Amino acid sequence: MSIKSPNFKKESVFDIVKSNISARQVADRYGITINHNGMCLCPFHNDKHPSMKIDKRFYCFGCGKKGDAIDFVSDYFHLNAKNSAIKICEDFGLSFDTNYHASPKIKLRSKSDEQILYETEKHIFLVLTDYLQLLKKWKTEYAPKDENDEWHPYFCEALEEIDHVEYWLDTLLYGNISDRAFFITNYGRKVITIEKRMEQLR
Ligand SMILES: [Zn+2]
Repeated sequence: MSIKSPNFKKESVFDIVKSNISARQVADRYGITINHNGMCLCPFHNDKHPSMKIDKRFYCFGCGKKGDAIDFVSDYFHLNAKNSAIKICEDFGLSFDTNYHASPKIKLRSKSDEQILYETEKHIFLVLTDYLQLLKKWKTEYAPKDENDEWHPYFCEALEEIDHVEYWLDTLLYGNISDRAFFITNYGRKVITIEKRMEQLR
């Protein structure tokens, strides 16, 4: 099987894994039996009855381990995140560019471009910080009480998005100017959607 991501030149090995492979797929690939409820024996603690819920991400009701496909492989094979992502790509026949490290160079034309970027960043940063707080609240308030509970959409969204939002905030805080400009160009629209949605939720 060979899946070639259409934008593979622009994507890091992490993006390729995140957009193609679920935690469930990797667990299945490495020999873990998943039952019809999407539950399996947790490989990270001495589990007698399936207490891990696994789909796009995984969560263990026994030991609390959680994460996505990369986290799963990282814990299972004791690899760092990058080597885990590379292993997944290799095992699933996904193409990736080993030379990809940074975002493409974006040259700012003038001082005013820089000013606009700064204002936009500040705004996006505030929206994302609010959203992160909300997600963290949802993660506790809407957490399933036991393994048979249906997962509340807010709880799923929190599991799904907290890592992304933290990563975006890190990019805005610590990224160089090209990283930040790249983020705004590619995720600006998504941030606007988040902002509108939060206004409705208030
Ligand atoms: Zn566990």
